Amino acid sequence: MGSARFDRPEDYWHRSSGGCGSMKNPAASALPSATGWMGCWWWPVASSVFRERSLNTDDGAPRHRVQPHPDGAFQIMGQAVVVTSGGIGGDHDLVRKVWPKRLGTPPETMVSGVPAHVDGRMLAISQARGARVINPDRLWAYVEGVRNWDPIWANHGIRILPGPSSLWLDASGQRLPAPFYPGFDTLGTLKHLRETGHDYSRFVLTQKVIEKEFALSGSEQNPDLTGKDHRLLLARLKSGAPGPVEAFKEHGQDFVVANSVEELVAGMNRVGEPGMISEDHLRELLETHDLEIGKKFSKDAQVTAVRGARQYLGDRLIRTAKPHKFLDPRNGPLIAVRLNILTRKTLGGLETDLSARCLTESGQVLPGLYAAGEVSGFGGGGMMGYNALEGTFLGGCLFSGRVAGRGAAGDV
Ligand SMILES: Cc1cc2nc3c(=O)[nH]c(=O)nc-3n(C[C@H](O)[C@H](O)[C@H](O)COP(=O)(O)OP(=O)(O)OC[C@H]3O[C@@H](n4cnc5c(N)ncnc54)[C@H](O)[C@@H]3O)c2cc1C
Repeated sequence: MGSARFDRPEDYWHRSSGGCGSMKNPAASALPSATGWMGCWWWPVASSVFRERSLNTDDGAPRHRVQPHPDGAFQIMGQAVVVTSGGIGGDHDLVRKVWPKRLGTPPETMVSGVPAHVDGRMLAISQARGARVINPDRLWAYVEGVRNWDPIWANHGIRILPGPSSLWLDASGQRLPAPFYPGFDTLGTLKHLRETGHDYSRFVLTQKVIEKEFALSGSEQNPDLTGKDHRLLLARLKSGAPGPVEAFKEHGQDFVVANSVEELVAGMNRVGEPGMISEDHLRELLETHDLEIGKKFSKDAQVTAVRGARQYLGDRLIRTAKPHKFLDPRNGPLIAVRLNILTRKTLGGLETDLSARCLTESGQVLPGLYAAGEVSGFGGGGMMGYNALEGTFLGGCLFSGRVAGRGAAGDV
């Protein structure tokens, strides 16, 4: 027998933005018959409106009971509780608390790549009831976050999924060493950037690069894909940046668009800490880049990687710009983007057995408590390992949700 206590609705209505905003809870759909079974069916409904405050795993309450409280909160009793509350990225203090030493000091300033309600609160609540959290420091923060000019939640950051051509500089304007090129090695780049002592870095690129190489993560940033609009999707093949990218160029506070290096540097020093970027140094970097682009056999590993990427037809068509000189005005204007660290995925969490049952510190099954999805590290407390592949997270949510639903159904 378990129960969950919910507060009254808070600011929980929100526009969806993320990988599975419209998905049904697989834990619920795995149940043979949801009707009349309190332990799971209420979860997706209640959790979208009410905020869970506490959890009991053995309170001796009768089956299927909803108990209102005088303060407006209510408690639901059932044979099992499935926790599917997501990761921790909405609570930056919690992110800093679990920040792994191997990635250096935690950043003071980050942007939120997840809604505020993805705050890890249920981890502590479940722990208080005896559940064990494992691998809490396996977090995945991205290094290409820009502040959303049209935010949905507080401090809303959008991740750029970059192609390989932008020059990547640290906050002081030094080019990042190999292999830290755009889209190459998120955690390696994050570790390197933490050693620079600054919470941000920069891309320097051209109009030609942004048109082909900037994709933005998030459902509202990809209306063609999320709206299944084939006409809009085909427009990606045309020249010009997609509408949402152009909107960032125009309104985004992290973007600088300029017709000369001098103007670009002035903008970069305005957007970042003043005086950090030297015009002479940036001009030299750009001239060196253009020199290498002109050579048939470049010794610049990034130039070689860009040429390699274009050997693949898909990348050549929609992902990698034709190598070009950044200082040639025909390829301009020049663009600089300040990149913030963006919180996103939580790869550790509530430890479970193979039936998604939560385990205690001593490895015993905690009766009636299940966990699935990101709160359990996409299953089990770390099913994905640490170097999870991009885009494979939803699979773990679906799979562990199905297992939890089946396991919980067995308790009814
Ligand atoms: C912008 C973005 C892009 C992404 N892109 C991809 C991608 O391309 N591929 C991929 O595989 N993954 C992607 N992800 C990750 C993926 O979307 C998440 O890992 C996945 O949605 C997690 O699902 P979940 O059901 O475990 O948690 P969530 O979807 O976070 O749902 C948790 C729910 O629990 C509720 N909740 C939390 N705390 C409480 C509480 N105390 N009381 C009551 N309710 C509570 C929340 O309101 C929320 O509705 C992306 C995520 C984001 C944000």
